[in-house]
Amino acid sequence: MWNRLLSLFSKDLAMDLGTANTLIYLKGKGIVLNEPSVVAINQDTHQVIAVGHDAKNIMGRHAQRVAIIRPLKDGVIADFEVTSVMIRYFLSKLLKRRRFVRPSLVVAVPTGITQVEKHAVIEASEQAGARQVHLIEEPMAAAIGAALPVEDAVGSMVVDIGGGTTEVAVISMFAVAYSESVRVAGDEANEAIVRYIQRERQMVVSEGLAESIKIKIGTAVPREDPMKLEITGKDILTGIPKAFTITDEEVRKAMEEPVQVIVESVKRALEKTPPDLAGDVSERGFWLAGGGGLLNGLDQLLHEATGIRVHVAEDPLTAIARGAGTVIEHLDFFRQVFIN
Ligand code: ADP
Ligand code: MG
Repeated sequence: MWNRLLSLFSKDLAMDLGTANTLIYLKGKGIVLNEPSVVAINQDTHQVIAVGHDAKNIMGRHAQRVAIIRPLKDGVIADFEVTSVMIRYFLSKLLKRRRFVRPSLVVAVPTGITQVEKHAVIEASEQAGARQVHLIEEPMAAAIGAALPVEDAVGSMVVDIGGGTTEVAVISMFAVAYSESVRVAGDEANEAIVRYIQRERQMVVSEGLAESIKIKIGTAVPREDPMKLEITGKDILTGIPKAFTITDEEVRKAMEEPVQVIVESVKRALEKTPPDLAGDVSERGFWLAGGGGLLNGLDQLLHEATGIRVHVAEDPLTAIARGAGTVIEHLDFFRQVFIN
């Protein structure tokens, strides 16, 4: 009873600040916020119009003076100002009832983040009201979220495929022993689908529609049961909206290049990982996390390319937030994982 009361007032938070989605975990409670990392701004007045779900919903349907910004899309913090606005908005949404309690915050950040970028994340979080900020590398959080034994002297490999980046990391004894990062992930797949439909079908579709096509019928390997989807785009020549059908095979072909970049980065990581750790990985397999890990057949393709077992982490979209959450629940055990 007392513990439950205490946890109600405790404001320790963990945040997965992703290029596509931001998740916040509240100690003692679990994930309390899960929204797109998107901000809508009026370009004339510089006023924030909407953040998160509300901002994503108006994507493609807004007036010209409205800019829809994904502040993390092209880098760690590509747009510092907008990132802090977004963090502040999400935190205040959670803390509005007890504004005077400043939370301590664990933020999951990409591996290989520079000092300047670390400062940007910390400053944005402090501006947003955090009392104390700790940073943890995303693949470490993903590994903890997948319940891997990060404390042991055994290599655990995680492949985190998000919106903007794919990170491959091998973890041992509370540290990232090797990592590899490419700026190709879910967004690139969407863009490749848009380009393919334009080139092969002479139709224009939005990236948002391309994403839902990918999620509904996209696969990395041929399916046994072919699928197709009826969608509406605009004819390039006439500009008139028209319905047409697209098959899973077309979508697979469209995504071939970005998917191959991901496969190559996994192979490169395996080649460069020190031999004993690589031996552990080949024995135990590796784990997929991040939304891109949900792409149908990607586990099979990666298995065929590497000969190693591939596991998809449970609920890959929340693995990083749950892992960072586990760290704040067991702070004494995990203290060594912080990188600042
Ligand atoms: P980030 O950590 O960069 O915020 P996420 O881990 O939240 O990214 O993953 C977002 C990406 O996952 C998006 O590109 C989205 O299209 C993709 N995604 C989500 N669900 C699926 C699915 N079922 N199949 C394929 N891709 C998916
Ligand atoms: Mg992520």
